[in-house]
Amino acid sequence: MGRIAPDILEEIKDRIDIVQLISQYLPLKRAGRNFKALCPFHTEKTPSFTVSPEKQFFHCFGCGASGDIFQFLMRMENVTFPEALERLAEQAGVEIPRGRGEDSGEERNRLYHLHREAADYFHEVLISSSGKKAREVAMSRGLDSSAIEAFRLGYAPDSWDRLREVLKSKGFTTAEMLSVGLLGEREGGGEPYVKFRHRLMIPIWDSRGRVVAFGGRALEPEQEPKYLNSPEHLLFKKGDILYPYHVARKAVRDMGYVLLVEGYMDAITCHLHGFSNAIAALGTALTPSQARKVVRLSKEVVLAYDGDEAGRKAALRAASVFFQVGVVPRVVLLPSGEDPDSLLRSRGREAFASLISGAGDVVLWYMAELETRYSLSHPRERARWLKEVLGFLAPLRGSLDLESYLVEVASKTGVTLEGLKMEIYGRGKGRARSASHAPRGSWEVLYLALALSNPRWWKIFKGEVLEDPLVLSLWEKVKGEDDPSIALAMLDDSERSLLVGKVMEIPEEGVEELFASCHRRAERRALEREARRLKMSMEGVSGEEKGRLLARYIEIMKSIKGAGEEGVYETH
Ligand SMILES: [Zn+2]
Repeated sequence: MGRIAPDILEEIKDRIDIVQLISQYLPLKRAGRNFKALCPFHTEKTPSFTVSPEKQFFHCFGCGASGDIFQFLMRMENVTFPEALERLAEQAGVEIPRGRGEDSGEERNRLYHLHREAADYFHEVLISSSGKKAREVAMSRGLDSSAIEAFRLGYAPDSWDRLREVLKSKGFTTAEMLSVGLLGEREGGGEPYVKFRHRLMIPIWDSRGRVVAFGGRALEPEQEPKYLNSPEHLLFKKGDILYPYHVARKAVRDMGYVLLVEGYMDAITCHLHGFSNAIAALGTALTPSQARKVVRLSKEVVLAYDGDEAGRKAALRAASVFFQVGVVPRVVLLPSGEDPDSLLRSRGREAFASLISGAGDVVLWYMAELETRYSLSHPRERARWLKEVLGFLAPLRGSLDLESYLVEVASKTGVTLEGLKMEIYGRGKGRARSASHAPRGSWEVLYLALALSNPRWWKIFKGEVLEDPLVLSLWEKVKGEDDPSIALAMLDDSERSLLVGKVMEIPEEGVEELFASCHRRAERRALEREARRLKMSMEGVSGEEKGRLLARYIEIMKSIKGAGEEGVYETH
């Protein structure tokens, strides 16, 4: 199989939900956290075909058919992996480079081209004499000529037909312009009219830096709406876009965290003040797909939102979406009525930087904030505080962070840790039970199986420590593959079924914790091996060299001790 960039597979998996995909073929019925149906791959009377929205796997407990969206399509449509990839990429609106899927990409390519031409046109007008007023307004908002260049800002002149004629002369049709919302249909027919008029235009880029939409900011105080944005269309799904992702990506690597802000104007101002790690989610609420994209850049996330009630709510909502992808962000709420854009322009970089550096853990912040509303010394208010905090923490079920927060909650309320866990996990569904439900077999099988269920885990999986012969033979087949979906495709049906079946048996709330536990175990084994190696090399040397090896040996033994015991999921 040829090399396929792993982020393309990840992007496809982010966009296509396995439940939706399979629903196109079978009627799925909800069963607890999963969905069930009669298996399409063998004959049965009671449904054993199971789909997990959380794990994004399907598995038939009857015939063993299993896998992710790619395997489902391969079996259902009887196509090869590259064919399945091509079809799902098209459905997801993800372009595959190297000439794959050229025919289906034609329409998309034209629309990318159309946006590029429109952006160039707006930009030319802004820097020409007719863009004077727009440039003045931009300047008053801190957008000087270098900002205009860096963000390819433009001006849509006050004309009902100019853009249409310009794009027509470049060979685009009014139908294409209508389809991406640059034109609007006239009531009673006639030539469609240009929608963006007398506005400062901000081209919106996708994660690869292609223009896929526009934001248009009003230039006059009485102009409505203040912001006019492209509607969703073939290239533009609001819930997928983070602006400007491709620019921030590099900065995040240097700065070590992502600064998430509310609007694209905030993001631009942050960049102009040196916070090039800033990105904004387009659309009203952060989506899980956006959160996964953010976390792929860095697990250190700082939310910088407006301190008013709407901003506070948005920050809490965003935090809870991050919880679902296993990350606890930090949060800083700006003084009420201020956003990063206004704050940076009025108080400058230093003031903003000091606010950011004071960003606190969102859970601790929320607990403290609720304490200003409810008094913990009054039983009834304490109960309400507890209810809100536990509700907030619930999406963290199964993560390693949850326990430390519960310890904090216990100390504040006097409720026992066990009692809190019972509340969070529900009666009889606590950790003890998930442990006893953990599938039997070598922990290495689980470790490999779990790594195949999550690209993030796949990247850190330590295959070199494996010892179990079965697991080693599976690992031999898949190592070197960049994406777990490709790895799954390299296995034969029964091998894949064994691994996916294992993952499907684990209660969702235990998955994150279980992987972490396996991974710690693998790390510990790697350390133990190195310690043994060092011990052997120490035997043949003396003097300074021996001292150096000994120091390293002691260091390793310390970290092995620090890693602690791994008793929860024992080998059977
Ligand atoms: Zn089946």
